[in-house]
Amino acid sequence: MKALMQDRPLLISSLIEHARHCHPGAEIVSRTAEGPMHRCTYSDVHRRSKQLAKALQVLGVRNGDRVATLAWNGYRHLELYYGVSGMGAVLHTINPRLYPEQIVYIANHAEDAYLFFDIGFAALVERLAPALTSVRGFVAMTDRAHMPALALPSLLCYEDLVGAQDSHYEWPLLDENTASSLCYTSGTTGNPKGVLYSHRSTVLHSYAACAADGLAVSAAESALLVVPMFHVNAWGMPYAGAMCGAKLVMPGPALDGKSIYELMRTEGVTLALGVPTVWLTLFNHVDTAGLDPKKDLKLDRVVIGGSAAPRAMCARFESEFGARAVHAWGMTEMSPLGTVCNFLPKHAGMTTDERLDVLARQGRPVFGVEMRITDDEGRDLPRDGKAAGHLMVRGPWITAGYFKGEGGQILDADGYFDTGDVATIDADGYMQITDRAKDVIKSGGEWISSIEIENAAVGHPAVAEAAVIGVAHPKWQERPLLIVLKKPGKQASRDELLAFLDGKIAKWCIPDDVAFVDELPHTATGKLQKLKLREMFKDYRTRST
Ligand code: ADP
Repeated sequence: MKALMQDRPLLISSLIEHARHCHPGAEIVSRTAEGPMHRCTYSDVHRRSKQLAKALQVLGVRNGDRVATLAWNGYRHLELYYGVSGMGAVLHTINPRLYPEQIVYIANHAEDAYLFFDIGFAALVERLAPALTSVRGFVAMTDRAHMPALALPSLLCYEDLVGAQDSHYEWPLLDENTASSLCYTSGTTGNPKGVLYSHRSTVLHSYAACAADGLAVSAAESALLVVPMFHVNAWGMPYAGAMCGAKLVMPGPALDGKSIYELMRTEGVTLALGVPTVWLTLFNHVDTAGLDPKKDLKLDRVVIGGSAAPRAMCARFESEFGARAVHAWGMTEMSPLGTVCNFLPKHAGMTTDERLDVLARQGRPVFGVEMRITDDEGRDLPRDGKAAGHLMVRGPWITAGYFKGEGGQILDADGYFDTGDVATIDADGYMQITDRAKDVIKSGGEWISSIEIENAAVGHPAVAEAAVIGVAHPKWQERPLLIVLKKPGKQASRDELLAFLDGKIAKWCIPDDVAFVDELPHTATGKLQKLKLREMFKDYRTRST
């Protein structure tokens, strides 16, 4: 029997329509590429995204056309999120930190029709333009007074475009499975691959972000999006924000510790989201400026994802900022939310140490995400918190295949996607990543978790950042090497660090050696570049070999 419920499509335009009626005055605060702070509301974003949609129509943008952005977090970027997807085109957010040749590759692969860019990227755009074969026009996201002087044939001004239209526009009633936005994975091996989200997947993902056992975002929140809008749609926050009416604070290009701290203070930020490396920058600023975050800030929760949140980082947020670290895990292919680490009633009354042990895990799946772990033959492994296996996922906001069929068939017979991560799952559903499958250290038939060692090492007061890789060993096949970036002015020797790890991790997991470096390589999304480290240390022989 068919049900008798209304079949209304889940559309991105409905999010901004809802915000306009229910949270019209909630603020969007942006640090602009031009310099000053800018304040507007969801009501303004609603109006201007409609003006933008009309302007795109005039430019000849049709359903399904890709419209690219090279931009930091800010209100104009938010207008593009709603204007482009809302009118039926596909928003393609490009990561400007990629190598120029990768940007050219993905813009051409996506066949972007227009490219909108922050004026800070003007020189980059001018340089890349001749190689961008499908782009019909370039739009500088600024007003007439700040237009860059560029030798580009079809250069347009964002404010002129938007200002030329009124806001009398009806969003089209699209099929909810229509493509809405496109994001490329960073492609550590091979070419980047496109993940094509739908209106439906985006709206469902927003419900998960707002849910209490998700990120619990609400109208009470002042949310600082340090995670860029070109990194998996800023983890879905631009959509979830409109769904619940959260105030959004956008840092623009200023991602240094001082600027982030200032925004937190002046905007009464309660929730901040970002990858571990940005929080290290924030900690450095607090240290050098001798600040008292508990006194200055209203921070309640910090969402940490993209890489494992070190225990020491969670502890510091708790003790010094009075804020809870919310560990989250996901990936571009998952929109990105997969798991969030929230507590259960049984964790009440735990000691700080015990609580931090729970937080070290990546958390439990939000409803909608099904997870399992399997061995190399694809057999299910027990959910006992001990067995580690390939982490497989399935759900309505998880990719079914890459754009233009790159990578071929990517789901198994049961429709699960292999995340490439290795993890354990316990009886309550808490998942803990032990490694990327390609980073696992195989020592004498056992698997050693590089993440576990890194996590323990950054607990040492002299260690700013740590990376662990496997180096060849004649007897054990591979043994862990700890690579350390020390905090400025702090000292620690090899032996001292190895002694520090003793008792924190299993004896056979203790690295054979420690190498000190002045810099650790990171990917365009802030992850440690293990591939590069393995190349750098490929001839390294540990002291015990
Ligand atoms: P990209 O794929 O473009 O490098 P993603 O953000 O999609 O960027 O990366 C997803 C991967 O990042 C995951 O598969 C996982 O390996 C890693 N990751 C994300 N969050 C965490 C986390 N909380 N702990 C450990 N690893 C994480």
